[in-house]
Parts: sequence; C-alpha cells; structure tokens
Amino acid sequence: MMGQGVSEQEVALLLQAACQAAQKAYAPYSDFPVGAALLTDDGDVVCGVNVENASYGLTLCAERSAVVKAVSEGKRKFKAIAVWASRRPHGSVTPCGACRQVLAEFLEPDALVIMTDEHNGHPKSLKIKALLPEAFGLSADPDGNCPDTGSSKPGG
Ligand SMILES: [Zn+2]
Repeated sequence: MMGQGVSEQEVALLLQAACQAAQKAYAPYSDFPVGAALLTDDGDVVCGVNVENASYGLTLCAERSAVVKAVSEGKRKFKAIAVWASRRPHGSVTPCGACRQVLAEFLEPDALVIMTDEHNGHPKSLKIKALLPEAFGLSADPDGNCPDTGSSKPGG
C-alpha cells in the first residue's frame, strides 16, 4: 500500500493509463505530450491530455483536462491522479500552479499526485497539501477543505 487508500496496483494502473492517454495529447507547439489519469472514489479511471492552442495562453494542461472530463461525466470525488510526461522538463514533472489549485478543489488534501516521465523508473508521489499548502478556498473549514464536491450546487 502507498497509503491514502491507494494500492500499488491502482498506482500502476493509473500510470499506465496516463502514459497511454499521452499518446492522444495535442502538443504541436511544445512537443511535450502529457497524460493524466484520475482515480475516482468508485474505482473508475478518467484520463486527460494537454491540449495546446496557437494562442499559447489558452493551452489546457492534462491534469485540468482530466478534471474537466471527469466532472462533465458526473464524477467529482477522486482518490489520486497520475501524471505522465514524455520527457523531463527540469528534473521532475510536477503540476503547474493552476493545476494544483484545480486539483485542490476536487481532491482531498491527503490525496496523492503521482508523477513520472518515460525516462524515470521511480514515480514520485506527493500529497495535494504538499504541492499546494495554504490553498485558496471559499470554505469556512479551518482545515482548508473545499466545499463538498459530492453535492449538486445550484446552477452546477
Ligand atoms: Zn497545469
């Protein structure tokens, strides 16, 4: 067990799914395909890829792509996410700041972010709260937990 309720088998499954998803990335500008795979609380895996744009600022990362896809399919509770990159940018592959904030909205502070690249045989795992301490949130919860993502919000 890796802790946080995610088994070694689930980690392996997520990494494989993220790697396979990366083959579908749309990254003609950076040539840096990335895949992400979310593990839902009921055991489903939802993948995302980076989707670049000629207007660079509109590029969507794989992590946020996976979250958007999952939420649009009615899934809002996740146990972990794996991120796989085709190469290592600067020593390690970690979610960008925007993705950390979006992940913090839907994953518990103790949920794992598992990161690796095709040259790395040893995936790195960090908790959301380690990647984004003191995350911005509108909850009154002193622990910084985000609103209950399982309930339907008005207009949502
Ligand atoms: Zn990002």
